[in-house]
Amino acid sequence: MSSLLLKNGRIIDPASHRDEIGDLLVIDGLIADPATLPPAEISTLDCTGLLIAPGLIDCHVHLREPGQSAKETIASGTRAAAAGGFTSVVAMPNTSPTVDSPSVVSWIREKAATEGVINVFVAGAITKGIAGEELAPVGAMKQAGIVALTDDGHCIQNAEVMRRALEYARMFGLVVMDHCQDYNVVGKGVMHEGRVSIELGLPGWPALGEELIVQRNALLADLCQAPIHCQHLSSGGSVRILREARKRGIPLTGEVCPHHIALTDESLRGFDTNFKMNPPLRTARDIDTLIEGIADGTITILASDHAPHCQYEKEVEFDQAPFGILGLETEFGLFHDILVHQKKAIDLPRLIALLTIEPARLLGLDRGTLAVGAPADITLLDPSLVWTVDKEKSASRSRNTPFHGKTLTGRAVCTIVAGHTVWKL
Ligand SMILES: [Zn+2]
Repeated sequence: MSSLLLKNGRIIDPASHRDEIGDLLVIDGLIADPATLPPAEISTLDCTGLLIAPGLIDCHVHLREPGQSAKETIASGTRAAAAGGFTSVVAMPNTSPTVDSPSVVSWIREKAATEGVINVFVAGAITKGIAGEELAPVGAMKQAGIVALTDDGHCIQNAEVMRRALEYARMFGLVVMDHCQDYNVVGKGVMHEGRVSIELGLPGWPALGEELIVQRNALLADLCQAPIHCQHLSSGGSVRILREARKRGIPLTGEVCPHHIALTDESLRGFDTNFKMNPPLRTARDIDTLIEGIADGTITILASDHAPHCQYEKEVEFDQAPFGILGLETEFGLFHDILVHQKKAIDLPRLIALLTIEPARLLGLDRGTLAVGAPADITLLDPSLVWTVDKEKSASRSRNTPFHGKTLTGRAVCTIVAGHTVWKL
């Protein structure tokens, strides 16, 4: 059985406010009481200088199966996740076919159980075909095992449909996660609307297009008393709306991705499509406000929006290229480097919380903690390790990252799922 003794590491478990140097005992795939007599055939790992954290959780990942396995598969996507320190991911439903029926949910869960190296949780579509019109069978998908609802990649424009979706979601205890984009305002926008978009002659995607939907979601979450999670927030204005709503007790949460605090629209001057994502890279002022929101607790979730695309799809004219970049393997390094190492906006325990217990609570997962009896999903992290991103070494099937060659401080060095080591640097 999977029994393991992790020795002399800095154990950080934000769920129990634990932060101390010590040993962590794993017996039969579960976190064990340290007073238990360990079994005779136990393997020991020296963790001196390392952090022992709950396995990281990413609630926004595109694994691309079924239907787009040239970009990524459940096997390759979960290997990339493990190499980034993640023990659990939530797979987005904009696959082909879309995850809008219990049979597709079961198909992914069965494939993940045999081919995935980490835990894969499934988000179901809110509407059939992610078309924003007719609700998908929420109850049947919940029975099949979904942990959340989202039309990610798309956004329900009709507020009445969104309201009905929230009422159903609340009945089944599911959070609705929303890709906030007003289609009329955004139009054919491909980059942040501002000085740079005008200079480059590219159609703009204004911050207003996101903020309008965040504001609508605040009103709907309040009216229905049902939680809405706003995915990948890019605009400072969204943070201010979210802060105000949360102050009033509205069940609204928000998430930030690494690229939105690492890069601005200035990076698009080279027309490199690896800098094209949705929502787009914005300005230095937006970055400051996003980081403020992370520091003051307005933003409670960090995620990657890992979005693999084939090279031939990205090697086209800028406005023709698909939106999205790889994220899983650079996520912890970027967040740690920017938020803890450079800006000192948050401390290590808070960073770990934003990547573990916070998403676990949002989705109601029995993960994200090192409490006795919890599944032994553990990530060993080296916060002082300086490393350089090399896209050729990625476990993903795709290579679309803007961070190739970037040097970062902090990295996962070992990923353990249910007591088994699934990846080691
Ligand atoms: Zn999205």
